[in-house]
Order: sequence, then C-alpha cells, then structure tokens
Amino acid sequence: MGQTEKLVIWSHEQKCRKVVESLEKNGFGALYCPTAAEAREYLLAEAEEAESIGFGGSLSIAELQVIDPLQEAGKELLIHAAPGLSLEERLTVMRRQLTCDLFLTGTNAVTLSGFLVNIDATGNRVAAMFFGPRKVIVVAGRNKIVEGDAADALRRVKSWATPPNAKRLNFNTPCATTGFCSDCNSPERLCRVATILERKPRFTDIRVLVVNEELGL
Ligand code: SF4
Repeated sequence: MGQTEKLVIWSHEQKCRKVVESLEKNGFGALYCPTAAEAREYLLAEAEEAESIGFGGSLSIAELQVIDPLQEAGKELLIHAAPGLSLEERLTVMRRQLTCDLFLTGTNAVTLSGFLVNIDATGNRVAAMFFGPRKVIVVAGRNKIVEGDAADALRRVKSWATPPNAKRLNFNTPCATTGFCSDCNSPERLCRVATILERKPRFTDIRVLVVNEELGL
C-alpha cells in the first residue's frame, strides 16, 4: 500500500472513531470496523442466536453478502424485496420485520455528533430501526459520515443517496433522471419519512458498525 492510500485510510479512521465515540455518548452500541470483512464477521456472530432476521433493503448489508450463510444456517430471513412477492406478501414481510429477533440495515447518514439520519418512502425500514426488533445492527460505511448537523445530513441523503436509489429501484422521480433533487411532488416521491435518531431509543438494542470502507450509497 502506498503512502497516500495509508494516509487516506488513517484520515478516515480518525473520523470513524470520532463517530463511534459520539454514538457511544448518545447511548448507542458502536464499534469501529477497519474493514467490511470484519463487519461481516461481527454480523454473522451476532446472528447466531437469532431465529428470525429482517433486512431493511440496504445496499451496505447486501455488499457484506451475509444472506447465503444465514440461509444455510437455517435462519428465517425476512426480505421484502425478494423476487416474485405480491404487494400483499411484501407488506406481510415488512410487518414481520418489525418483530424479528435481529434487524440488519444501513443508514443514509451518520453525523460526527452521532446522529443517525434517514429518509424512507414507506417507513418500514426506519420504523424497524427504532422499535420492534429485539436487536438492530446498523452498518455505516465511511462514506455515510457527515461533518455537519442533521440538516446537512438530510441534504446529503437527497443529494447523494436518494437519486441513485430512485434510479436503482426504477422510481419515476425527476432525480432518477437528472441525479439532482428538485424537492419534487412526484406521485412516486421517495422522500416521505425522515428520521433523526439523536439518542438510542429507550427499549431497542441498537448497535452501529462504523466501517472504514465505502459501503452503499
Ligand atoms: S424529493 Fe423527489 S427529487 Fe428530491 S430526492 Fe426525493 S424523490 Fe428525488
């Protein structure tokens, strides 16, 4: 590894560790993971006791490739985006995710001050982040760190996360074409529910893995 790359990793590490410190101050469980592989190992170990595992539909979790080993381990996997499901079946899975043993998700943004900031279209993902599942693990790649307040984080989501997500999910929104948010009033607008977790929700065991690699959007 060249010196520039080492310095880039070091620089990101300082920010990741600051986020971990802030999250802990805010009552969350938080762990610094130097690599995605370490985050993956942590997830698989934490999943051992869970019988039912919900997935929030996050690219960060998809990139960790935990579905196959969890399936082989005989877990009940609750994936509302699984191909072939009718709308009613998808909604049933989303409702089951709210009471699963372990819910796995990414976050659209995390601030240096330790706030988790998300925007959702349906609200199922963010709802399961703060109440219902027995345990929640959030994976935050270093690209999700925002050096600013919650308003800056919300801007980050609408600038960098939602437009490519709209494109990925084939939503007919202006940002899916232009790549820019126009605060649309489209019938397919994704930005409908915004949440800011400022402190750990009282009755939810929620842990955040802050990973020194880019994960998700
Ligand atoms: S408000 Fe509309 S245009 Fe802006 S990011 Fe959300 S869906 Fe895209």
